[in-house]
Amino acid sequence: MENLVIIGSGPAGHTAGIYAARANLKPLMFEWFMAWGVAAGGQLTTTTTIENFPGFPDGIDGTQLMMQMRQQNINSWTRIETKTVDKVDFQSQPFKIFVGNEIIETKSVIIATWATAKRMGMTGEKDFRQRGISACAICDGGLPMFRDQRIIIIGWGDVAMEEALHLTHFASEVVLLVRKDVLKASKAMQDKVTSNAKIKIMYNTEIQEAMGGNFLEKIRVLNNQTNETAEIECKGLFYAIGHTPNTDFLDGQLTLDETGYIITTPWTTKTNVEWVFAAGDVQDKKYRQAITSAWTGAMAALEAENYLSSK
Ligand SMILES: Cc1cc2nc3c(=O)[nH]c(=O)nc-3n(C[C@H](O)[C@H](O)[C@H](O)COP(=O)(O)OP(=O)(O)OC[C@H]3O[C@@H](n4cnc5c(N)ncnc54)[C@H](O)[C@@H]3O)c2cc1C
Repeated sequence: MENLVIIGSGPAGHTAGIYAARANLKPLMFEWFMAWGVAAGGQLTTTTTIENFPGFPDGIDGTQLMMQMRQQNINSWTRIETKTVDKVDFQSQPFKIFVGNEIIETKSVIIATWATAKRMGMTGEKDFRQRGISACAICDGGLPMFRDQRIIIIGWGDVAMEEALHLTHFASEVVLLVRKDVLKASKAMQDKVTSNAKIKIMYNTEIQEAMGGNFLEKIRVLNNQTNETAEIECKGLFYAIGHTPNTDFLDGQLTLDETGYIITTPWTTKTNVEWVFAAGDVQDKKYRQAITSAWTGAMAALEAENYLSSK
């Protein structure tokens, strides 16, 4: 019987692993080899330089950072198995973790299985992903390639407003594409955006294609009222159209919010099932950063340790 199984291998899972191993819990971690085309180290392996993770004054390559976290975990004696968890059974103790034909029994579990950014899927998207197209304005907006350039952002909710405002710190102009003729964001956020001289809003507008050479150079858009198309020159295209938390495999056994994120007790990583904890983007629809994921990963391991030693 395992003390602790950690499902997921991004900053949240690896930080949880390091803390749990150092508490002598002998954790067992599962990492998904290629989840929807993303390597086992998680979302940071899909990007280049990480400039906002403390301890690396010149930045660090995302894949390198994740390999270092993984090695630190192995050095701490976490057992890492490159296998996907297919389903779980949290109905009674010990919990059961189903991995292919194997069933692992465990006293406690940390879920750190991420949320993936939704994509538009238009022509050219794959060609310019991380070469002009990004789903994280907070992460990538400040990169030199976007400075004093026209940047497009797609979205209509509060996150899109926040990210459009963030991009105005770097861009010469921010163009917000909105599929409908209204914004869905709160009135206060709408006011901030509509009164910002650097932001231009194009309503009833849908993206059709991303174009360029080595990097993004322009996009083609469609006005869905007039059916007219237009090309807009730009160096950056950011998506703020939401994320999909990877919680389907839980099969309704944990309480989720209306968009599928795991609900945790505020300021803890406790879920509605005792001995099951959640860390990282899968329970965080607000910050979704490497450092905040690592933070909740550490919390989850400390809370699991507390449980295991007290009960
Ligand atoms: C393009 C891009 C650039 C970014 N840049 C930055 C940046 O510069 N700075 C920053 O702070 N943040 C950045 N982020 C955000 C950051 O990557 C995430 O906030 C962070 O990786 C979330 O960590 P996590 O551990 O919750 O999940 P992830 O890092 O996504 O890792 C989760 C892992 O769990 C595994 N997994 C999922 N389900 C299962 C399962 N059933 N069984 C086994 N394993 C499973 C997945 O394979 C995945 O590898 C960026 C994100 C993207 C997409």
